[in-house]
Amino acid sequence: MDQFSRSTQTEEKYMSKLSYKQKKEWFQFIVTRDGYRCLYCPSPFTDTNPPEYEHLNNDEKDNRPENLCLAHHSCNVQKKYNADMQILARKKLRENEMSTFACERTLADTGTTKEMTSQQEINKTNMRITEQFLLEHTIHNDELVLRDAVNAIVDICQKNNHTGSQAAIYRYVDSLTNPYTGRYTLSVTSKGKTIIRKRTEI
Ligand SMILES: [Zn+2]
Repeated sequence: MDQFSRSTQTEEKYMSKLSYKQKKEWFQFIVTRDGYRCLYCPSPFTDTNPPEYEHLNNDEKDNRPENLCLAHHSCNVQKKYNADMQILARKKLRENEMSTFACERTLADTGTTKEMTSQQEINKTNMRITEQFLLEHTIHNDELVLRDAVNAIVDICQKNNHTGSQAAIYRYVDSLTNPYTGRYTLSVTSKGKTIIRKRTEI
């Protein structure tokens, strides 16, 4: 797109902490999401007042697209000292995270296995939360009802990062109860409840 090729120089000049691949990917994504505009002011981007990437939570290593938006350099600098702009940034981050969560749910609901690149970090976190939960709750060889465990894990993921659909957590449990390599097993009781147990060593 024209907008992108015009801004490539700008990106290289200002966005050194993001890889070129990220810059390119996220730019299209962010413009589609937010429009080609500054988050903080109504002035347009121009050659003398070009866009730069703004990290909504001020963590320059957090390059999730949810944490990125476009802003003027001057607005970006001003944000550091402006409480209203900080609040606006937090609100925008939350909004972006919620829409990613909605997207994750849609993907899960339609059975699409393709994951968004932007979600891979969060998927890893939620996978770790799932592992940790099973570890802690089977420490005395307890039995866990699958459905209750999944609901509890969904709650923890939601509190942690506002994502974690049931379908996603079921997938993680599936991998942890894989009959060949999983550390846990699934079995069904006479009442039809699916139970998770720690796999006993052979
Ligand atoms: Zn601005």
